[in-house]
Amino acid sequence: MTTVLAVAEHRRGELRDVSLELVTAGRELAEAVDGDLHVAVVGGDVDRFAEALNREGVDTIHTVTEGEEFNHDVTLQAVEALAASLEPAVVLLPNSVDGLDYAPAAADALGWPLVTDAVGLEADDRLVATREMYGSKVATTVAVEFPAVVSIRPTEWPAAEGLGDAAVEAFEFDLDEGAVGTTVTGFEEAAGGDVDISEADVLVSIGRGIGDEDNLDLVFDLAEALGATVSSSRPIVDAGWLEKNRQVGQSGKTVTPEVYLAIGISGAVQHVAGMKGAKTIVAINTDPNAPIFDIADVGVVGDLFDVVPALIEQFS
Ligand SMILES: Cc1cc2nc3c(=O)[nH]c(=O)nc-3n(C[C@H](O)[C@H](O)[C@H](O)COP(=O)(O)OP(=O)(O)OC[C@H]3O[C@@H](n4cnc5c(N)ncnc54)[C@H](O)[C@@H]3O)c2cc1C
Repeated sequence: MTTVLAVAEHRRGELRDVSLELVTAGRELAEAVDGDLHVAVVGGDVDRFAEALNREGVDTIHTVTEGEEFNHDVTLQAVEALAASLEPAVVLLPNSVDGLDYAPAAADALGWPLVTDAVGLEADDRLVATREMYGSKVATTVAVEFPAVVSIRPTEWPAAEGLGDAAVEAFEFDLDEGAVGTTVTGFEEAAGGDVDISEADVLVSIGRGIGDEDNLDLVFDLAEALGATVSSSRPIVDAGWLEKNRQVGQSGKTVTPEVYLAIGISGAVQHVAGMKGAKTIVAINTDPNAPIFDIADVGVVGDLFDVVPALIEQFS
């Protein structure tokens, strides 16, 4: 039986959202190759993670108890051992900081092709992946022979939902301690404190339309009224008005809030790449032809300096 192996991701005791997206992508791919979906989780509270990963369509979950936080060498050895044991057609992992840390090494160690940042996956007699280029302006198709290592772009697949009845098995292998040259000593928050825009339900996002750093107070007042988090387009970060960890987009963060308010943001492809997965997009812009209105669910053509104070009054 052909196997697809998805390697879940966790950080600081929490399973990352992309892990359940991996399950969806893995399930689709397993169906396409008429195979089984196996999910592995390496390190940390594996039993709790396995419970959360036990979703419809998952056949087996492998728990690897070595390590706590992500460790390049441990994960690499575990994935190599899992691949040797399961002989999967595909190893799927997230196109994240951690995923990209070991994906090339895993592909190299296994001698398999590597496809990164896939936004679509199909299979014929080869694996066919869709990747985007030039700021999502061009979609390319990449076909590689099985078996392959593939990283998928976070937020491109919905999180798997229905509860499953997968077998949970402890996977044991001989960890070569001598080859573990890295140790996680702790975490240091990036400047900007612990603001994590990728976890926010409501984002008030500001763009160059705000005009001046002093006007940002208005945006923070709206965020407070809505119980929202402030994010921004890149020029606001480039100007040094907000910290880098608040930037949404291709070179910033990918976000999927329930509500995304794009205020004074034109909707450049590089920005849209990071927020198009928001459930409801509300755009406020003086320019009725701004591209952001093409993807907005609710559009307000107006001056933010009129509209935002009215919203604050409404929601305070
Ligand atoms: C390799 C690369 C990576 C990039 N990565 C990112 C990224 O990660 N994130 C990102 O955001 N950008 C990114 N960019 C930049 C991107 O191309 C755009 O330049 C940027 O998104 C524009 O930001 P903006 O919409 O705030 O500004 P602008 O495009 O200048 O738009 C400002 C908008 O505000 C409106 N406006 C002006 N005054 C008002 C007012 N009073 N009330 C209401 N509306 C008003 C205007 O009509 C306009 O639509 C990247 C570019 C490159 C080349």
